[in-house]
Amino acid sequence: MTETLFRADAYARTCDAYVTAINDRGGIVLDRTVLYAAAGGQPGDTGALTWEGGVCRIATTVYDADKTTIVHVPAEGSTLPAAGLPVHVMLDWETRHKYMRVHTALHLLCSLVKWPVTGGQIGAGEGRLDFDIADMAGIDKDTLTSRLAALVAADHPVTTRWITDAELEAAPHLVRTMSVKPPMGSGKVRLVAIGEDGAIDLQPCGGTHVSHTSEIGGLAVTKIESKGKQNRRIRVTLA
Ligand SMILES: [Zn+2]
Repeated sequence: MTETLFRADAYARTCDAYVTAINDRGGIVLDRTVLYAAAGGQPGDTGALTWEGGVCRIATTVYDADKTTIVHVPAEGSTLPAAGLPVHVMLDWETRHKYMRVHTALHLLCSLVKWPVTGGQIGAGEGRLDFDIADMAGIDKDTLTSRLAALVAADHPVTTRWITDAELEAAPHLVRTMSVKPPMGSGKVRLVAIGEDGAIDLQPCGGTHVSHTSEIGGLAVTKIESKGKQNRRIRVTLA
């Protein structure tokens, strides 16, 4: 199991760690990391590992089959650090910060479009959510863009807290994303709250977010597409 430092502090850009193993596919396993492992539509982070006399670019970061071990996938042709070696982990912050802005913007979109979410994807400049929308009243690009801008300008705080699996089971309305089940089984689930007490949005999420909505900056709803009978894909782009 890898200690997920990005979960306690999404702004942590570096850490020291030990190489606990090189797996059979050449992936690097560390005891702890600041690199987010791909999950929930958010891509795995890129970055680098450095050590005495060596450097290894990390092309992406993923979970192993056990879902608790994080594997750092080296860029092709990289030199691997040996198991047991202490390394310095560096995150490609500029890309990650864009993921954080887009990811938080999608929570805001979720708060405005009250229909079930059926899928989503986060990129460095844009993201999208798919909704099962039966009634398009009030759902158009310009209306959503101005309502999103108002939520960004209001500078709502984004905070996290943990609840038990049982507490989440007793409050199924918190789960907005039908396609991605919240990460249960460890006994506790992380809730992400936007606004006082989650007044704007409150849902289980393991991703990385900005700490205040103003940090999202300028953004626009650039496309609303039909994907199937009731399914609508709403795309948000950073300015
Ligand atoms: Zn999230």
